[in-house]
Amino acid sequence: EAAKPGNFLRQIIEHDLDLGTYTSRRWAGSPGDATHHARGEPDPARIRTRFPPEPNGHLHVGHAKSICINFGLARDYGGVCHLRFDDTNPEKEDAQYVDSIIDAVQWLGFDWRQPGNDRPYQASDYFGFMYRAAEYLIQAGHAYVDEQTVEQIRVNRGDFGRPGVNSPFRSRSPAENLARFREMRDGLHEDGSMVLRAKIDMASPNINMRDPTLYRIRRATHHNTGDTWCIYPMYTYAHPIEDALEQITHSLCTLEFEDQRPFYDWLLERLSETTKHPDGRTMGGLLPGPPPRQYEFARLNLTYVITSKRKLAQLVYDHKVSGWDDPRMPTLVGLRRRGYTPAALRLFAERIGVSKSASWIDYSTLEGCLREDLESKAHRGMAVLNPVKLVLSNWDEAMGAGHLEPCTLPALPHPPEGVDNPMRHFRLGKEVWIEREDFEETPPKGYKRLYPPRPGAGGETLQGNRVRLKGGYVIECSGCTKDASGKITEVQARVEPHTKSGTPGADSVKVRAAITWVGVADGVPAEVRMYDRLFLDAQPDAGGKDFIESLNPDSLKVLTAIVEPSLANARPDDKFQFERHGYFVADRLDHRAGAPVFNLAVGLKDSWEK
Ligand code: ATP
Ligand code: MG
Ligand code: MG
Repeated sequence: EAAKPGNFLRQIIEHDLDLGTYTSRRWAGSPGDATHHARGEPDPARIRTRFPPEPNGHLHVGHAKSICINFGLARDYGGVCHLRFDDTNPEKEDAQYVDSIIDAVQWLGFDWRQPGNDRPYQASDYFGFMYRAAEYLIQAGHAYVDEQTVEQIRVNRGDFGRPGVNSPFRSRSPAENLARFREMRDGLHEDGSMVLRAKIDMASPNINMRDPTLYRIRRATHHNTGDTWCIYPMYTYAHPIEDALEQITHSLCTLEFEDQRPFYDWLLERLSETTKHPDGRTMGGLLPGPPPRQYEFARLNLTYVITSKRKLAQLVYDHKVSGWDDPRMPTLVGLRRRGYTPAALRLFAERIGVSKSASWIDYSTLEGCLREDLESKAHRGMAVLNPVKLVLSNWDEAMGAGHLEPCTLPALPHPPEGVDNPMRHFRLGKEVWIEREDFEETPPKGYKRLYPPRPGAGGETLQGNRVRLKGGYVIECSGCTKDASGKITEVQARVEPHTKSGTPGADSVKVRAAITWVGVADGVPAEVRMYDRLFLDAQPDAGGKDFIESLNPDSLKVLTAIVEPSLANARPDDKFQFERHGYFVADRLDHRAGAPVFNLAVGLKDSWEK
């Protein structure tokens, strides 16, 4: 822990732990019914954070940052992090997203479960409390039912430099407001005909304090509460209450919510204090103190990526990608299918850190984290992505007709201690597949791979070039065959017996290059999906640009490659380094034994920044 840099959130938490800010919380026996929501045995001294996604889409890489921050801080300070579905908006939400979110959090390696408390939290469980809290606000004179139209409310709210105008309904009596609010709840009014608003200050310089809406009428079936309610709380009203009921100590959100913080504090203060009812009794005290506090950090902006769920949904519905889990998508299901590992994403979150000012993170930072994770773990394998046949013309005389020479290489060149490092087995025969680019009929200057004999300056013939077939023999290029269009259809070479890798003296045979290859006899065809960035513009949706216009038309190329037998035996989700090409993953959905499908996860080198 000492090695962890002290970001501003850590400083705040450490300060609160030093002061014992939350040790004096009065949970047990507090008024109201807040304690019903304190599941398990709450230790008041613990810090509590929460990750509160709205179940209206799949999580993306920005959420991964938030998950790592919230769960990471709870873990590091002996606290608890709640997974909470912020499901107050029934029209947009769906149970399928709930499952996907649970899956994503677990996949990232975090756990919200506590002894005796293994169900995620959901905001809709508090609708009853939220309703009673609203009635209390009305009775205490802090809220009123407004019958202006949505448009009138918007216009009368004013904007910067122009104060708002009080609603004509603002001065109704609490009794009248309460009656009207109950009618709203009982379904006596049309959707959109009236709302409940907080009564704060229509002249506040902060527009969020100009009587924000607390409840609206919406006849929509909720995935959890069904048709129990036809009024639903607004996010800004619901969220602070959710935090307070769950005894959250540090409510961490992104910077857009900074202007909401005064209302967050105002609301929790109103619900904590007590007031006198006109009939003399004391009311209020719905929430115990001290209240949760909101802190804001910069959201993740990643170059070449969009992280708005709405825009990601548009890519899916317009068939610009194959689905939420398309390997080009920045969703966690997409990144997972692309070959990203939980460790790589956690490393990324740590590396980009937490700050209070917005900035852009370069996509190569994310890729670097994946490379770093896979470098020591991913088994190596040879795959020929753009194959041309190489024939070893003297093979039968030198090695025996039809001979197949068994060859081996370790799965890992530098296995970390204690890590299993199996040998890969493959065979070399008269015919092998090599990369097209590993042969040049007329070699450019400095070219070290295969080229045929050619005339020297003095009329003599210069030898064809010699290379090693990696893990196999040294060969000398002798020529090539072309078709009518001039396309090379075959390369020829001669094998040099007694040069096999791993035999005494053989590895010291000097050649200028080793090339990767796969035997025709045991190579297996595989579909290889070569992915590139989805957008050509580094900030595809900045400044109101139409991100669809910057879609990269070449973000996917599908190849038929030939892979060595160890790769053909991959299980779905296995990651490999295809030597010289990059890191690849056996597709989680489409890969089959006998019909391998691999996705490019990341290249070996950073190719993003020119
Ligand atoms: P989107 O804008 O993509 O719809 P959202 O913020 O509406 O995302 P929620 O489901 O409400 O999505 O988000 C859950 C949590 O994840 C919130 O606390 C939010 O602040 C955080 N979060 C969302 N996007 C990012 C991001 N790009 N970087 C960091 N945190 C994020
Ligand atoms: Mg949201
Ligand atoms: Mg949003």
